[in-house]
Amino acid sequence: MKTQITRRKLLQALGLGAIGAGAFPLACASPGTSENKEKVPVLRFAHLTDMHVEPGIGAEEGVKKCIEHILKSKKQVDFFVNGGDLIMDALGKDKAETEAQWAIWRSIRAAYPDLKFYHCIGNHDVWGKTPHEEKFSGKAWVMKEHGMESPYYAFESKGWHFIVLDSTHQKDDGTWYTAKLDTAQRTWLEQTLNKIPSDKPILIISHIPILGATPFLDGDNAQTGDWIVPGAWMHIDAKSLINLFHQHPNVKVCISGHIHLVESLLYQNVHYHCSGAVSGNWWNDEPYEMTHKGYGLFELFEDGRHTFEYVEYDKKPKGKL
Ligand SMILES: [Zn+2]
Repeated sequence: MKTQITRRKLLQALGLGAIGAGAFPLACASPGTSENKEKVPVLRFAHLTDMHVEPGIGAEEGVKKCIEHILKSKKQVDFFVNGGDLIMDALGKDKAETEAQWAIWRSIRAAYPDLKFYHCIGNHDVWGKTPHEEKFSGKAWVMKEHGMESPYYAFESKGWHFIVLDSTHQKDDGTWYTAKLDTAQRTWLEQTLNKIPSDKPILIISHIPILGATPFLDGDNAQTGDWIVPGAWMHIDAKSLINLFHQHPNVKVCISGHIHLVESLLYQNVHYHCSGAVSGNWWNDEPYEMTHKGYGLFELFEDGRHTFEYVEYDKKPKGKL
């Protein structure tokens, strides 16, 4: 029987939580030419990550509030990306508890049947008590909910190519889980990158950050005198992926969730963005490490530039209790 310590439980055990109020609205853009048509994005999408829905904590109302905020915005989006950890947790839950969480998501989707969602699988979406004869053990249920044929896939929209990765895999010792690509997915990624024309920009979506600074700051990671960042918090194969991206200069952007914090990092001409969390502090009203509930708004341009903004859809006005 595997035991699972989630990041949330670990942080609770360490007595770490919200430390104040604040916000991280930020925007980021690659340099580019200033031709008039290039000032208008060819595509805009909302990155909703870490929704963590379950009954009884206001998650359904919260996600609907987030979607309404996007739909009422002047900046209309072409589609939505679910960044993973859509449900609170299926790893340690039984069938009935997991089903109750998915029922909340189905209710949300039923309220907005026309919205186009692309889905990425998070660690908490994986059902730990899955029948082991299933083809994608642990992931078959979440894939069925989302109509996914594979836990990783690629698609194209308005000249941009999108690659959705599956971050969560068994550790080498067979325990669950670490952030990496397995051998089959790595081969598929290399083949997929080779097939995309070199003049077409690429955006990569993973639940767990491939590279980031926030995994260093999420928790008391320096208490031993060394920085300790678990392999479950940032891709353990980051260096290898960075080397792969270096062979494909049209890989422009990598986006993730998982950490519930917001950041933008530029390394070797690739932008790495972490889009906070729709659930903020797991639906607690206090912000999480100064980060409020929000979603990532991305605008993509024909020449490969992009912008990223973290939109706080539920921030309380200052001075109000
Ligand atoms: Zn996660």
